[in-house]
Amino acid sequence: MIRFWKFSRNKPVRLNMVLIGPPGAGKGTQAKFIQEEFGYIQLSTGQMLRAAVSARSEVGRQTKAIMERGDLVSDDLVIRIISERIDEADCKNGFVLDGFPRTVPQAEALDILMSNKEHSIDIVIELAAGEEELVARIAGRFTCSGCDQGYHATFKPPAVEGTCDKCGGHDFKRRADDNEETLRDRFKSYYELTAPLTRYYSQKGVLHTVDAEPSIASVSGQLKEILQTALSDVAVG
Ligand code: AMP
Repeated sequence: MIRFWKFSRNKPVRLNMVLIGPPGAGKGTQAKFIQEEFGYIQLSTGQMLRAAVSARSEVGRQTKAIMERGDLVSDDLVIRIISERIDEADCKNGFVLDGFPRTVPQAEALDILMSNKEHSIDIVIELAAGEEELVARIAGRFTCSGCDQGYHATFKPPAVEGTCDKCGGHDFKRRADDNEETLRDRFKSYYELTAPLTRYYSQKGVLHTVDAEPSIASVSGQLKEILQTALSDVAVG
């Protein structure tokens, strides 16, 4: 069930969030947690693009090879996808962006887009973790082909081996870009292009950095505290 922390009987507080972090930091897992716990909708550009590739849509045909190499698709395309998606009704109380923005120009475009819609980015959370830990995580991760639920062979296996906890499916897949060679390019792209976003958002006073190396539950606990504090500040303010 989707609920809004503390505000279920009153008007929910709109919060628009961004999760930043290197590949494997747990952005998708934690964005799902925020959606389930607080009701803010997870918007993952990577997931949207992978769905377009699977559906063999025009966008999917344009982006398949780029994504398989671990390169970034064009700013125009991701900005258009996000702009259209945040206008949908389920985002009216806020959302959590996972995988976007990925560069300073994308962040600037997002600010313009939000201000045109009379909104802003309220909270940015950086999930920080060392590369060795991330490589180990990526090596073990897989998802259900039916419902896209994420798992990890060691840290988060399905309760019953070979059966998805969420939809009962038996078919699992790994991301085409989760291989050693592509991973190196994805880390390089993260440190060169995405990491400077922490400075960008820190200057705006909205950045929180969380240690993403402990367990999934412990990282979720840290995120919950940040969101609860932000929500109680709104309630008091
Ligand atoms: P992710 O699931 O966030 O790791 O994204 C997977 C792939 O989708 C990336 O390696 C890029 O090729 C593409 N992608 C996702 N988000 C963006 C973005 N904001 N800008 C450019 N490319 C993106």
